Amino acid sequence: MNQFDMEYFKLSIIKMASMVEAERDYLTSLDSDIGDGDHGINLSIGFREVTKQFETFDFENENLTTLFKKVGMALLGKVGGASGPLYGSFFMKFGVPANSARDVDFCTFVEMFSTGVEAIQMRGKAELGDKTMLDALLPAKDYLNQQKTSKDIKKTLEETIAIMKKGAESTEPLIAKKGRAMRLGERAIGHRDPGSESSWKLFECFLKALK
Ligand SMILES: [Mg+2]
Repeated sequence: MNQFDMEYFKLSIIKMASMVEAERDYLTSLDSDIGDGDHGINLSIGFREVTKQFETFDFENENLTTLFKKVGMALLGKVGGASGPLYGSFFMKFGVPANSARDVDFCTFVEMFSTGVEAIQMRGKAELGDKTMLDALLPAKDYLNQQKTSKDIKKTLEETIAIMKKGAESTEPLIAKKGRAMRLGERAIGHRDPGSESSWKLFECFLKALK
């Protein structure tokens, strides 16, 4: 059996839910600087709904495609703002390359991540440098696709997180071209995009769930 199985992904999502609770006020404060101050709150509402739905989800018989459809639907249905639809779309598509399997190899994990990032890009229509979550997600996608056959998955995920952190940092000097921060013009300069920060923190949960 592959390392990336139902149990692994369940644990990853549970870790995401606890991260969101722990970082709720911090993420909200980033959003207060340049947005409407609800990013942490929105994610908290969303992931609480996800963990609630886990209580009745049949982990023994379902598969990764149905699991992530469930996660995506929960986020889409519960979360307001921009982050709900964007992360919701990510997870809706994340499970598709798993093709109803209950475990996947790292190469498929990378395809799942890439498909999710593409869904965010389709929905948000943002590009690199627009001061959005894609400034963390797109470099991660590129790097992971170069590392599909990596023999040291832990190291690859650590390196990906470092790249994502840099991506989040890179949003600070930018003027926003998408989202609410757009209205601020140059006043957005010096502030980090909240979605770029939550993106790497969510991704880090994939590393923390590794055995
Ligand atoms: Mg907001």
